[in-house]
Amino acid sequence: MNDVATSREKPTRREVTVGVLALQGDFDAHRRRLEELGANVVLVKKPGDLDQIDGLVIPGGESGTFLKLLGKEGFEKLRQFVRLKPTFGTCAGAILLAKEVENPKQAGLGAIDIDIRRNAYGRQIDSSIREGKFLPPNGDTPGNSAIEMVFIRAPKIERVGPGVEVLAIENGDPVAVRQGRAMAATFHPELSDDTRVHQEFLKLVSEFLAD
Ligand code: GLN
Repeated sequence: MNDVATSREKPTRREVTVGVLALQGDFDAHRRRLEELGANVVLVKKPGDLDQIDGLVIPGGESGTFLKLLGKEGFEKLRQFVRLKPTFGTCAGAILLAKEVENPKQAGLGAIDIDIRRNAYGRQIDSSIREGKFLPPNGDTPGNSAIEMVFIRAPKIERVGPGVEVLAIENGDPVAVRQGRAMAATFHPELSDDTRVHQEFLKLVSEFLAD
């Protein structure tokens, strides 16, 4: 009988189930990171997979290719999803979540009131590892905001709407933002050892579980 009590060593929140959009691109590194942080992970390959998850990560890749692979039905289903459940887009995923997309213009889900420019850093520095600052609003490590950021053909957030919180900056530019349930980063936190950005997203997923 006591076994039941002792097996509940962590009587915290229930395990969250997070989907990672697995159509193309860098989804496996997100899966590993989320599992390492204790989440149950589902690879999302078809629209119906969205029904069983508490939150979604849209990985890097090529946003134009994502749009093609999603098709009209997938895009529409995703648009509904991001209104209801926490979603975190990295790089191409951030582009998909934006309101306006430039270079070239393409459809965005409009989950975050930002304008974003694809491939904004030019050829020479299209991929680089830089140090930025991670500043989540109730972050518990204000003294240690420095964080490694991996940029790969990164987009640039060119306008941040009034309802959008800036979570991270690099060289004065916003590189991670959040509005309501949606979070986006123009870099690839899944490729660094630092787990704080994914932790922040899992916090968001847990907060919205109760709703
Ligand atoms: N350049 C890609 C795009 O425009 C994004 C690159 C990435 O996700 N690493 O969609």
